[in-house]
Amino acid sequence: MFEKVLIANRGEIALRIHRACREMGIKTVAVHSTADADAMNVRLADETVCIGPPPARESYLNVAAILTAAAITGADAIHPGLGFLAENADFAEAVEEHGFVFIGPAPEHIRLMGDKVAAKAAAARLGLPTVPGSAGVVNDPVAAERAAAEIGYPVLIKASAGGGGRGMKIARDRAELGRMLPLAQREAAAFFGRGDVYLEHFLERPRHIEIQVLGDGQGGVVHLGERDCSMQRSHQKVVEETPSPGLNAEERDRLGALAVEAMRELGYRSAGTLEFLYQEGKFFFIEMNTRLQVEHPISEMVSGVDIVREQLRIADGASLGYRQAEIRLSGHAIECRINAENPVDFRPSPGRVTDYHAPGGLGVRVDSALYQGYVVPPYYDSLVSKLIIHGRSRNECLMRLRRALEEYVIGGIETTIPLHQRLVAARDFIDGDYDIHWLERFVGRGE
Ligand code: ADP
Repeated sequence: MFEKVLIANRGEIALRIHRACREMGIKTVAVHSTADADAMNVRLADETVCIGPPPARESYLNVAAILTAAAITGADAIHPGLGFLAENADFAEAVEEHGFVFIGPAPEHIRLMGDKVAAKAAAARLGLPTVPGSAGVVNDPVAAERAAAEIGYPVLIKASAGGGGRGMKIARDRAELGRMLPLAQREAAAFFGRGDVYLEHFLERPRHIEIQVLGDGQGGVVHLGERDCSMQRSHQKVVEETPSPGLNAEERDRLGALAVEAMRELGYRSAGTLEFLYQEGKFFFIEMNTRLQVEHPISEMVSGVDIVREQLRIADGASLGYRQAEIRLSGHAIECRINAENPVDFRPSPGRVTDYHAPGGLGVRVDSALYQGYVVPPYYDSLVSKLIIHGRSRNECLMRLRRALEEYVIGGIETTIPLHQRLVAARDFIDGDYDIHWLERFVGRGE
């Protein structure tokens, strides 16, 4: 096993990876920007290296600085976490070329799934159903109109290099497509450096259902069940749960088997997530994330599998060592993403945390790097904590969640805890009766 791992990330996810390393007796190196010198993951690491000023492109995206930090500290391997360089195939290659192990998938799989048009084509080849859409990139208005007429309106214009729910535009008819196409292309170029877009039929009432997989690249593949991430605002996940209240056992098993079969054929290595939209008994693949996900803890809570530990073992060359039949999924888990934001208008709310008290008790897990006196910097993603609850049933889970949200104190900054409190009291959420557009309506109504 590795002796020392460099964690090329920040915040709660860097801390999460540090914890897995620590339990396995692996030393950690925290790299950080000047804005994160006092971060909890930096305080707990065995060694720390400052890699640049606050802007991410000069620090957390600075490949030369990260590789230099790995070299001077004598790290064996690099874990990219999520976001930043986690899905950058060039980075994964550079890590390996410099003699370090990349804790993640093979670079060619990162590259394949990073291009959403290529990923959809690959998924179709691997036997996964996909959302009806354009055959590939459509960059001129005439080709777009032709494709949209075939797919059927409404259509969604999506960036081929997209991610993070950004830059998607709906077009309900031909005129709107004409107006939205150049807009979507400009946004895609600005966000992702590439203006290529493609079209997909826009589903009106789907659930977002994803499957967590683990592969060892040696033929071993298992899944850890699905996650329902339909609670979204601006295409970004807010609450996730497993199992999905919208699926029955047959659908669950069917999707799991499809995902495992596809990943076995691909020879996938490490943790990954296949994302689908689900509507009226049908699944449609939308994309694959070739990394750890923010919401991975709910799968850990029901399966008992430490996903980061598995990533480390697999990167070290171990085989999975267990089969699907040995994975037991038990109970129900829900995660609330707590952001440093105003809970009504969602404006970021960085600043000093003056009071901090995290909830505890049976079935309560808090993945957060916050502490009293910590200053949330304004430069990065606003996620500051994940409250993860496990219960034997969905009902028990909801009761516990309500209680834990009441206990949670984060003073000095605004957070989205009040939004989660309103959510857990909402009838539709309690009934599990919601789709990907539900939260937008709920927030819009200001209930
Ligand atoms: P990103 O990579 O930017 O996260 P995804 O393709 O994963 O983009 O889509 C993000 C979210 O956007 C989905 O979870 C879903 O809510 C919505 N979405 C994506 N494709 C469609 C579609 N064809 N119809 C309706 N909603 C969609």
